[in-house]
Amino acid sequence: MRLLEFDYFEAENLEDAVAHLKKYNGSCQIIAGGTDLLTALKQRLYTPACLVSLDNIPSLKNIKEENGAIFIGAMCTLEDIINSELVAKKLPALKQAAWEVGSPLLRSLATIGGNICLNTRCRFYNQSSFWRSSREKCFKAGGSICHVTNKQESCVATFSADMPPVLIAYGASVRLIGPKGTRLLPLRQFYTDNGRFPNEILTGSGEILTEIEIPTPSSQTNSTYCKFRLRNSIDFPLLGIAVLLILDKGKFCKDARIIITGAGSAPIEAVEAREKLLQQELEPQLIDAAAQIAASEIHPMRSSFVSPRYKREIAGVVLAEALEKAGGIRE
Ligand SMILES: Cc1cc2nc3c(=O)[nH]c(=O)nc-3n(C[C@H](O)[C@H](O)[C@H](O)COP(=O)(O)OP(=O)(O)OC[C@H]3O[C@@H](n4cnc5c(N)ncnc54)[C@H](O)[C@@H]3O)c2cc1C
Ligand code: SF4
Repeated sequence: MRLLEFDYFEAENLEDAVAHLKKYNGSCQIIAGGTDLLTALKQRLYTPACLVSLDNIPSLKNIKEENGAIFIGAMCTLEDIINSELVAKKLPALKQAAWEVGSPLLRSLATIGGNICLNTRCRFYNQSSFWRSSREKCFKAGGSICHVTNKQESCVATFSADMPPVLIAYGASVRLIGPKGTRLLPLRQFYTDNGRFPNEILTGSGEILTEIEIPTPSSQTNSTYCKFRLRNSIDFPLLGIAVLLILDKGKFCKDARIIITGAGSAPIEAVEAREKLLQQELEPQLIDAAAQIAASEIHPMRSSFVSPRYKREIAGVVLAEALEKAGGIRE
């Protein structure tokens, strides 16, 4: 598979990058590590006239703690995150999630910004143009029908990035810069739950994600990320669950967050399972009950390679494991 020709611009600062995006009026995309984008271009999923690289902007590659928050630049690679002592000490589940992405080579190029901005995936869409030419174009590819739901003008492609559930569990916000200036947005509001245009940037806002801001977790915070995939060596999550527990005396659940990737067109919060855990002692029976509730809170579609029923079964198992790990019940 070959790339089509496109213009390439290495921005020296954010203003230049924003101006360039504007100049091409929607036919220009940011390239970070390129690990996802270049495959998509080869598959002709997008055909931009220009790519803008952010690689020459050093301010996007910092990880620091200031005034009770941790700031991570969008161009930090997943390897940078794994190697950061600050992340290992204060955000262990983020290090864990980064470690679970792809392979060592991929993590040395892949950025956290690219991971957050990752498009949704579907077994009928993330294929070569030759493969896709065997059937009518689906809605996401510019046609009118969805091959998963057989409905007109709907897209239920699956959000499958590993880092966002953990970041949302930690209460992260993202800083965006665009033609109208900068704004700080809670990460959960960055996602639209629309399989075709799954995040604010892909809706065509002409913005760039510059930084992630995470409130420094308290000493009572316990967090973990558990991922289930078909090939353990290198694969997107079939399902990934981030759990954050605020525990009093190591056992009493004062607060909880459960965020799931791989089960819908955006990261999903298991709200009812969280309610079940609140103000309770974390015991195996309670964990099993919360896991069953979480499984009933997701409604996966046939856009990935396993059945929705299988995913729901797996959700209970993965969440029980994550709660036991975060609660210190198992290693
Ligand atoms: C073999 C393979 C295995 C993979 N396994 C996993 C996995 O297990 N888990 C997982 O989560 N991902 C996986 N990925 C997907 C991808 O590699 C990662 O999500 C990676 O973090 C993407 O980052 P990147 O810097 O390479 O993004 P790019 O490919 O450069 O960009 C991805 C998208 O984000 C946009 N973008 C990037 N940065 C910005 C920014 N700062 N502002 C605005 N838009 C931006 C781009 O325009 C593009 O649309 C895999 C990919 C491959 C090829
Ligand atoms: S869910 Fe439907 S519209 Fe969306 S990518 Fe898959 S087949 Fe296309």
